[in-house]
Amino acid sequence: MFSKCSRQFTVQFSNQIKRLQSTLVIAEHNNESLTPITQNALAAAKKLGGDITVLVAGTKCGPAVEKLAKANGLKRVLVAENDAFKGFTAESLTTLVLATQKQFNFTHIVAGATAFGKALLPRVAAKLDSSPVTDVIGIKSADTFVRSIYAGNAIQTLVAKDPVKVLSVRGTSFEADNLEGGSAASEPAPAGSYATDLTSFVGQELSKSDRPELTSANVVVSGGRGLKSGDNFKLLYDLADKLNAAVGASRAAVDAGYVPNDMQVGQTGKIVAPDLYIAVGISGAIQHLAGMKDSKTIVAINKDPEAPIFQVSDYGLVADLFKAVPELTGKL
Ligand SMILES: Cc1cc2nc3c(=O)[nH]c(=O)nc-3n(C[C@H](O)[C@H](O)[C@H](O)COP(=O)(O)OP(=O)(O)OC[C@H]3O[C@@H](n4cnc5c(N)ncnc54)[C@H](O)[C@@H]3O)c2cc1C
Repeated sequence: MFSKCSRQFTVQFSNQIKRLQSTLVIAEHNNESLTPITQNALAAAKKLGGDITVLVAGTKCGPAVEKLAKANGLKRVLVAENDAFKGFTAESLTTLVLATQKQFNFTHIVAGATAFGKALLPRVAAKLDSSPVTDVIGIKSADTFVRSIYAGNAIQTLVAKDPVKVLSVRGTSFEADNLEGGSAASEPAPAGSYATDLTSFVGQELSKSDRPELTSANVVVSGGRGLKSGDNFKLLYDLADKLNAAVGASRAAVDAGYVPNDMQVGQTGKIVAPDLYIAVGISGAIQHLAGMKDSKTIVAINKDPEAPIFQVSDYGLVADLFKAVPELTGKL
């Protein structure tokens, strides 16, 4: 009799916990379309269990809201349209996230481990007196997370004890939610004056490219200092065009001014995990590997047989890139 009661109590208690658990996902978007990481963050939130609310803040962000509302299993989509969110500055969004948290008392707040999430979440976490759990690559339970540390050289599993867990998740570790099968209601986010004196958005110049986006491309061709100049990157663009690939670069290539820094792959650049990563004239420093070593197949072209990139590559070609790359492009 006693054991039956206690089991009922346990079941009720765990249901109660489950019911109370709720996650706020902060959408990254450009008002019109969602940044792919939002779909990965949503998938991570689903792994946490419990209710999911998505916050979309912007100016005229209706199209982004519409896409998100189609995701299966959302409790609601909160929408905040305000001129203060022009440029999506972390300073104005922090106040909004805090007001939203105050109203709904979420147990988890999740965003992508991108420049957007990295600027916003530490501010939110500091205000909530919570330790942010960054670069999450696995979710074992509602409080136990796996994250990459020391530039990907060690994997840490931690139990987060803060009442509100603030997580940034790596897009490459969570398969994108397909945004199908749901019809969540959208509601206004808490109203407030979100303008801030701390920063004001002046403008932005975004690089435009017809090639796939680096972090979501199936194939990435990256070049390093071995390319020797920005002009020589044309060799990689030609190869990329044949493979419908995005083009990335090492930090050395970016620092040398060969290519813009939004192409940088690595610890302080973008994290990519395509089906195929072709590293051309890249030595394979740990900070570069941190950004691409989860790629499914890695091909390296380098004239130095001792280059560390060969230790992580599935296929290695010891050759002069100025001969090998045009030859490869020609054969495709
Ligand atoms: C805190 C910190 C963060 C960092 N973050 C990043 C990061 O995010 N991303 C990143 O990439 N780096 C990062 N770095 C820099 C990193 O340590 C390396 O300096 C950088 O990755 C080297 O770039 P590279 O391989 O292009 O250049 P190099 O190391 O100079 O290698 C060039 C390679 O090209 C080969 N080569 C030369 N000519 C040819 C040819 N004709 N044919 C074929 N091969 C040729 C050479 O054999 C060599 O292996 C970071 C460093 C620090 C300290």
